[in-house]
Amino acid sequence: MVTSPTGKAAAQPTARIAVLGRGPVAAGDPVLRGDDLGVLRGDGLFETMHLRQGRPWLRDEHLARLVAAADAVELAVPPTTALIDLLDGVRAGWPAAVEGALRLVCTRGPESGGPPTVYATLAGVPAASRAARRDGIGVATLPLGVPADARNGLSWLPAGIKSTSYAVNSAARRWANRAGVDDVLWVSSDGYALEGPWANVVWLTDDTLCTVPAATTGILAGTTVAWLLAHAGELGLSAAERMVTTAELHAADGVWFTSSVRGAVEVHTLDGVRRDRCPRTPALQALLGYPV
Ligand code: PLP
Repeated sequence: MVTSPTGKAAAQPTARIAVLGRGPVAAGDPVLRGDDLGVLRGDGLFETMHLRQGRPWLRDEHLARLVAAADAVELAVPPTTALIDLLDGVRAGWPAAVEGALRLVCTRGPESGGPPTVYATLAGVPAASRAARRDGIGVATLPLGVPADARNGLSWLPAGIKSTSYAVNSAARRWANRAGVDDVLWVSSDGYALEGPWANVVWLTDDTLCTVPAATTGILAGTTVAWLLAHAGELGLSAAERMVTTAELHAADGVWFTSSVRGAVEVHTLDGVRRDRCPRTPALQALLGYPV
């Protein structure tokens, strides 16, 4: 059982998969060929959206990011209307009371040639994500080994795309597990905080809600943080993109990780230093519309 946005217990539906051109498939049915470049090389793109009241929040922003990334990596994704039909198909009949994680995957398809492989998955939001909203997370900084502007200006290297190549992100996550923390924050070799392996970092300094600029650092431009900063005025706050050191984060009035499935989760501990809980967290989460 899970807690629905109304606070009532709701049955967790079984996870779903639908494939472009095939429709819904059983969870155990094959979706990819063995020579799919998404598997062989991690050559693909994906988006994960928050399903609330049965609808994908910020769907058009996610699709726009996917289309821009597809352009950057020369991947011929199907027209947006076909992607929307696929998403609509997989979410049809999903209970409105149950929040979900709706993923869209587009790989480059078979190595021997052929169209991209495109499919969507839908599952309930993991209990750990909902617990993180409520309890916050402990985060450790982890060196990324490159300067903050290393990726800026490398014209051959598409930056800020949501690629299925998540080996580095997964390695960081395994490190977090071994270190006994919930998540990590990558720090550049010149001392700037960048992003987490699955999240952007947001902090509050005086009355300004800040995040790291994606354009100059090559981090992923998050849909959640973009929406949050665009609506900061509704909380009486201004918004800014800034570079930030770990020392400045320790001194901030609040620090959060933002991402589509978790929403905004407060960083309660940074590098072993316990932080005072920020009284703004409930308002931030309410603004974003994620149930806690
Ligand atoms: N940065 C990275 C590396 C991510 O993987 C993600 C989400 O998975 C984010 C940031 C947050 O992006 P969004 O808010 O669009 O989910």
